[in-house]
Amino acid sequence: MSLRRSLEMLILGTAAAVGLSSSSAEEWQHEEIPFFIYERKESSIDSDKSLPSKLEESVQKKVVVFAGHITKSLSKMKNGRGAISASGIKEYEFNNRIVEQLCIRGSGFYCEPVLSGKNIIFQERPEVASKLGADIYLEVHHDSARSRDLDSLRKGPQTPDRWKNLSGFSVWFCSRNACAKESERLALTIAERLANDGFKPNHYHATIGKKMISKNGVYDADLYVLRETRIPAVIVEAGVITNPFEERVLKEKGTQERLANAIAGGLATYFTQEKEYQQNGYQQK
Ligand SMILES: [Zn+2]
Repeated sequence: MSLRRSLEMLILGTAAAVGLSSSSAEEWQHEEIPFFIYERKESSIDSDKSLPSKLEESVQKKVVVFAGHITKSLSKMKNGRGAISASGIKEYEFNNRIVEQLCIRGSGFYCEPVLSGKNIIFQERPEVASKLGADIYLEVHHDSARSRDLDSLRKGPQTPDRWKNLSGFSVWFCSRNACAKESERLALTIAERLANDGFKPNHYHATIGKKMISKNGVYDADLYVLRETRIPAVIVEAGVITNPFEERVLKEKGTQERLANAIAGGLATYFTQEKEYQQNGYQQK
């Protein structure tokens, strides 16, 4: 089936199988890293109270929100279904929950979900976002760590403290994106909101050589979807599901709601700032 036809089916909401070809190209490979999320602040479950004031209808923006990974098995698709949690659950299950929660939030902007069951492979996601009329590309994942680090952590007494360096959220952008500055600002804004809401930034990736540009867990990485999307684009790693203690927290609906609310709040702040920049003569690239 042609890509055009696949896109038409997606846009029409047709859930029928789209015969997407597999590829050995790079995907978002988590070298899965754990993080310890929350200090359990009860600050902002009520999104209406915590989000910035609503934007005007005339400037309403569209965020296309992809759940990381696909549900269909593609034999040549390395890591196509993502990480496996400490208790054996596939990552896309966690990703879908956050995307669903996020897309019932949004104040002054519109979020369109693309869940893993749509089976849109990563190579086609930038074009799908474009066809859907996205102003922002957002993809949600859950994290893990390198195999050797996981193997090491799994030996010996299992305590939260043992896993604490492999826990928390991170937000990723690509400085080679066509809208690099905006992507960076979006990543910083979402990460700041997550941190302010009590979630812990994940610094693990910095310890294994990734480029962290903010202590709030913001990373610059040359990932396909972040580089090739022609609009501001970020990936949010919501938490570390291979950390058994963090996974328990991430399974809770309340945690999923708090994460979604924080991401929505970051988006709202970003759009509010964008409007201010435009009013003050800010020139977008
Ligand atoms: Zn993933």
